[in-house]
Amino acid sequence: MQVAMIGAGYVGLVSGACFSDFGHRVTCVDTDTAKIAALKAGDIPIFEPGLSELVATNVAAERLFFTTDLAGALEEAEAVFIAVGTPSRRGDGHADLSYVYQAARDIARAIRRYTVVVTKSTVPVGTGDEVERIIRELRPDAEFAVVSNPEFLREGAAITDFKRPDRIVVGTEDERAKQVMTDLYRPLYLNQAPLLFTSRRTAELTKYAANAFLATKITFINEIADLCEKVGGNVQDVARGIGLDNRIGSKFLHAGPGYGGSCFPKDTLALIKTAQDHGAPTRIVETVVAVNDQRKRAMARKVIQALGGSVRGRTVGILGLTFKPNTDDMRDAPSIAIITALQDAGAIVRAHDPEGVEQARLVLSDVTYVDSPYEAATGADALVIVTEWDAFRALDLKRIRALMGQPVVVDLRNIYRSDEMAALGFDYSSVGRELSP
Ligand code: NAD
Repeated sequence: MQVAMIGAGYVGLVSGACFSDFGHRVTCVDTDTAKIAALKAGDIPIFEPGLSELVATNVAAERLFFTTDLAGALEEAEAVFIAVGTPSRRGDGHADLSYVYQAARDIARAIRRYTVVVTKSTVPVGTGDEVERIIRELRPDAEFAVVSNPEFLREGAAITDFKRPDRIVVGTEDERAKQVMTDLYRPLYLNQAPLLFTSRRTAELTKYAANAFLATKITFINEIADLCEKVGGNVQDVARGIGLDNRIGSKFLHAGPGYGGSCFPKDTLALIKTAQDHGAPTRIVETVVAVNDQRKRAMARKVIQALGGSVRGRTVGILGLTFKPNTDDMRDAPSIAIITALQDAGAIVRAHDPEGVEQARLVLSDVTYVDSPYEAATGADALVIVTEWDAFRALDLKRIRALMGQPVVVDLRNIYRSDEMAALGFDYSSVGRELSP
């Protein structure tokens, strides 16, 4: 099948590459000329494991193309996906739909044949209606259907997630569009991935409900971690103890510095706003957002406490900047709030991240970036593990101990064992695993 993908970012590029790998002919369109030039030259603008190889294979097989020309891409396309950004609107937290609506106008101008317009971006309920209205208004003659097909992939595991999804949600009541979507996803359907057809509004809401639920799960275990610290419990054991119950499930029960990233913060906020606008407030999600916002600076206070109450003039080494491992994405990463709070308290920050430094430079200032965890530890008064990259899981701890000015380690991802760290002579603290008072 012929597919056009508008937006060659984390979602568009991965989805486009995966669809082409299934055998479809995909053209990725982006307004960012530098991004398209890089992709044409074989450079992948983001870090995502396996993506570079997947793109190269499908470009070589002449199934995957890049362009800034939407009209050309739409000429033969049976489906056009909108995979542009929907960030938080400055000031009020609603989703900023300007990129989606611009894409809708671009599609309207270029549409030539019956086309299924698929919104893959995460958009508030009712956005599909507006996309349809925009296209209809500009092109009353056009033959098209607007479908919602939210994306559930995770950065860092995006290709596997796209190719082996738990489910594919397709929101449409148009029979012709249903057939196109079924044909597009047939390779996955054959892999037993359930294709769930719903109304368009239901599909739009499903994405927000999923992200809000996951954010709630994380925030719940984070609060249990705080309680563990007060009463002398171990949050990892609690998580195991509840997670083995099938009704709860073990995923997303890792206590840490609070959720961040390109989706949960903006999507929880947008859901709250939609719910308030419709007079059906989601109070649980409102609380989740408030609790999570507090948590990041609380993590900085944890570091300050570990250093005896003051970090003024002290050097803090940071391991991990991206919001999770295996991505270079810094959008709303907890490290930003933690580092800023430490700097506010007078700390000197040295940081190492395997992939995120280029993006981090754009959002953080006065940080010295170093090339290895050992350099981050050198002369540091405290070392803080913020992101659990694999490279930090088996550090030469004796070497780290020898390099540090003071052997204080604050492990915000619980990747080391308290007893082992103590035996090595570290003053070690983690999340929800303190000894009883
Ligand atoms: P991104 O910022 O990485 O990519 C968006 C791309 O769209 C950019 O390259 C931008 O230049 C391009 N663009 C904007 N307007 C355009 C237009 N009119 N025509 C062509 N290109 C245009 O964003 P992303 O992380 O890929 O997210 C895209 C959407 O998918 C968002 O709604 C997001 O919430 C959702 N989503 C993201 C993830 C994730 O893990 N990143 C997962 C699931 C869903």
